[in-house]
Amino acid sequence: MQFDRMRPHQIADAIARNLPVVLPIGVMEYHGGHLPAGVDLLAVTETLRRLGDEIVVLPPFAYGAASHAVDGAGRGTLHLETATFLPLAEALFAALLATGFRHLHGVIHHQTEGFAQGMPTDLAFRLAARNATFRHVEAARGAGWWGQRAMQGYYGGQVDDPFGWIKIHPLFPKGGGFPFDHAGVGETALMLALAPDTVDMPHAGDGGHWFTETARQATAELGESGVAIALTHLRRCFGLPAKT
Ligand SMILES: [Zn+2]
Repeated sequence: MQFDRMRPHQIADAIARNLPVVLPIGVMEYHGGHLPAGVDLLAVTETLRRLGDEIVVLPPFAYGAASHAVDGAGRGTLHLETATFLPLAEALFAALLATGFRHLHGVIHHQTEGFAQGMPTDLAFRLAARNATFRHVEAARGAGWWGQRAMQGYYGGQVDDPFGWIKIHPLFPKGGGFPFDHAGVGETALMLALAPDTVDMPHAGDGGHWFTETARQATAELGESGVAIALTHLRRCFGLPAKT
């Protein structure tokens, strides 16, 4: 279900059913001559599409701190400093909490190989989520809310934990068994499965990059195996029943 296509009674129903509400987070970045700038975003949006009406998908945030580690400007990389979108992300999460959503998730596929320590884009969204949560709860319950008797079961998980209201996840689980790379066999396979119209294999060798050398080994079947791994992981992240 796409949030932008939902009417008020459908939004109220999604809140009442506590459906997972998911923000796809992307960046635009050069991915060699054979792949589009939006690989990292398309990997998320097209995978989430497979979950259909089990989730609400927000209009994506398509930009981020791509960095110029891979390439300079001019071939698809759009680098935005985190300081420019941190307030926007916090305001967006605040608006979503004010709407009544308490099962919010962000999914990102850019620079997620060391997700526990984080990279600028996901760290900005994680910080934005925490800032928005603190602000929302303090405004609603007042200073000292955490110290009140009603929160006594916090450490035992017996109370509704506000810090569980917004979670940011990588598209792939750590050690998920799928080749994680930048524009190599893994991402090329993902695009062959999810957005084949964007792939131009004759240009896979453009630039002579080390990171695209495995791209020609990619197949749509391999990509589908990756999508299956990502979907199993996301179902767990969103608290959805495992697919039978
Ligand atoms: Zn990528």
